[in-house]
Amino acid sequence: MRKESSVPLTGNDQFEGYAVDLIHEISLALGFNYKIQLVPDGSYGSFNKQTGEWNGMIRELLEQRADLAIADLTITFEREQAVDFTMPFMNLGVSILYRKPVKQPPNLFSFLSPLSLDVWIYMATAYLGVSVLLFILARFTPYEWPAYADAHGEKVESQFTLLNCMWFAIGSLMQQGCDFLPKALSTRMVAGMWWFFTLIMISSYTANLAAFLTVERMDSPIESAEDLAKQTRIKYGALKGGSTAAFFRDSKISTYQRMWSFMDSARPSVFTSSNGEGVDRVVKGKGTYAFLMESTSIEYVTERNCELTQVGGMLDTKSYGIATPPSNLNYSPYRTAINGVILKLQEEGKLHILKTRWWKEKRGGGNCRVETSKSSSAANELGLANVGGVFVVLMGGMGVACVIAVCEFVWKSRKVAVEERLSAILHE
Ligand code: GLU
Repeated sequence: MRKESSVPLTGNDQFEGYAVDLIHEISLALGFNYKIQLVPDGSYGSFNKQTGEWNGMIRELLEQRADLAIADLTITFEREQAVDFTMPFMNLGVSILYRKPVKQPPNLFSFLSPLSLDVWIYMATAYLGVSVLLFILARFTPYEWPAYADAHGEKVESQFTLLNCMWFAIGSLMQQGCDFLPKALSTRMVAGMWWFFTLIMISSYTANLAAFLTVERMDSPIESAEDLAKQTRIKYGALKGGSTAAFFRDSKISTYQRMWSFMDSARPSVFTSSNGEGVDRVVKGKGTYAFLMESTSIEYVTERNCELTQVGGMLDTKSYGIATPPSNLNYSPYRTAINGVILKLQEEGKLHILKTRWWKEKRGGGNCRVETSKSSSAANELGLANVGGVFVVLMGGMGVACVIAVCEFVWKSRKVAVEERLSAILHE
């Protein structure tokens, strides 16, 4: 990076950053002088198959205009064929840079969200089923039959008409009760099981509603590379000519192949000429553009721009290394020496210190740490898998109630038959 300064700077002084500190440490250990020079075309280095030529830093090395290329330069198979790399000094992987999930405006019908749609449907079905069963059993069991005549000698109809049964069931479901109650064992069994069901359902609903109200609903349209590949609304791209683009171009995995053909055919182009431009596009795109970037760069950006985040994990693993001219050019005596220094710096924890300094401390790092840690809780709607058991118990209870009703009927019929026989005998 260029140093921010009010006075004009010259030479190595113009630059600062992780790579500058790293080469400084290496030069101290090995005792050499160096001059930092920016690559003229601003590219990392990609091979043009048509012309058979390299560009960027790799070309600088091949044409002997530079002795070392030190940057966020990924070690790749293709580059390794042309130049040499030292030991890796940082590990990373390709990932997705995207804007943070935005808070969803509260939904007018959010009271429905604690239970999933199928649970609501099953509940409505259970309500109707129980009402109808109560109606049938109240007709069937002799103990709900009108047992008395009113003042005018009229037969009193059973309270349990179909409408009243529905009223009874809804009264219990809403925790309000009802002014008439069943008397027979079978209908009481139905009522009892229904009360048990409503008790469990209402408490589960209340508990989950509380969770829903305390958790902010976040709208995150993509959560992985697969999500990106599945859709076309959100455009995505990578740095042109970088190892990330090459990863997608050469991948044998169908998802990444699909992503590559999407990126390659997109017009206007989704490729950018620098990581900075990619970050800008994500910010300005307001959710319509995602940038495939290396995890280290994503971490750097998300430490400073709190609107942005990394989506999903890493799609591969690779490393940055310092590139040196190929050994067949035979003028790069540094590689083995630098390898030793990198290992030493790593073992001493210096590389880690450097990383923390440039990622989290300097140049506005560590900005977003508080915010990133608190946005990961979520409440899930209760599905049938969570509350299915109580439906089973309800159905079991209804079965038992039917059996009881049959027993009641048989019992009463027997009693009536015995009584009739007795009175017949008495009359004789
Ligand atoms: N580090 C990459 C390279 O060496 C550039 C960044 C990228 O492709 O994401 O090509």
